[in-house]
Amino acid sequence: MPTGGGLGSAVRAGAAIGCTAIQVFTSSPRMWKSSPASAEKKTDLDAARKETGISSIVSHDTYLVNLCHAEAEMAQKSLVTLRDELIRCATYEIPFVVSHMGSFGAQDHEVALKKIAQAALQLLDETPSHVTLCMETTAGQGSSVNSRFEELATILDHCKNPERLAVCLDTCHIFAAGYDIRTEATYEATFSEFDRVIGIKKLKVIHCNDSKKPLGSRVDRHEDIGKGQIGLEAFRCLVNDPRFVTTPILIETPEAEEGHAKNIAVLKSLIR
Ligand SMILES: [Zn+2]
Repeated sequence: MPTGGGLGSAVRAGAAIGCTAIQVFTSSPRMWKSSPASAEKKTDLDAARKETGISSIVSHDTYLVNLCHAEAEMAQKSLVTLRDELIRCATYEIPFVVSHMGSFGAQDHEVALKKIAQAALQLLDETPSHVTLCMETTAGQGSSVNSRFEELATILDHCKNPERLAVCLDTCHIFAAGYDIRTEATYEATFSEFDRVIGIKKLKVIHCNDSKKPLGSRVDRHEDIGKGQIGLEAFRCLVNDPRFVTTPILIETPEAEEGHAKNIAVLKSLIR
């Protein structure tokens, strides 16, 4: 939800179109600079939570963060930026921060994943304990990390699987990365694989988007629910999956203003 009018108004706008969970940027997604949390914004957010009953709020970090950047200075800048985000969210009592974590560039993958794990451990160490960092599955576009479940598992493993390091699964991204979910059988197979490789209880947030681009294309282009290459069946499976009853399922489809209301209605119509 857009936060132009503040975090409270994002929650109220979400409630107005039928949201029971919302995702926000607490600072500009394409800028390094951010302002710290303010008491005034917190008060407004708390009021909006009370008014709407929406308590499930997730934050997405800036797209610029690359914790395994080949240049140490950029990696450090990324770490500081994500640390500020986690601290800001702790102040706002936003329990989950989603991050794309970074890109391999020309680096050895194992080295890069180790760098990310080190950064993640430092982040958890230097931020309040009531905020969880969720690494997002990516489409693998460019050289983004975490397009394979094994990469997420490797980072978790290096970190000794801490409680506060978890996963956000994006349906568009995993599909573009080659994980099929278009039928009940492929949906089940993909989530079984997730469970086997990572563990389903690490899945704390779901981004629910159809994909403009085909299976395995490694191109990240979100589409309205049911209008893309994934199709409705996957989303029917998702919204009826008993494993995700309390998991925030967030849409990041195009045209936020009108599109979100439509897409939420479509998702709700699929609930049995
Ligand atoms: Zn996403």
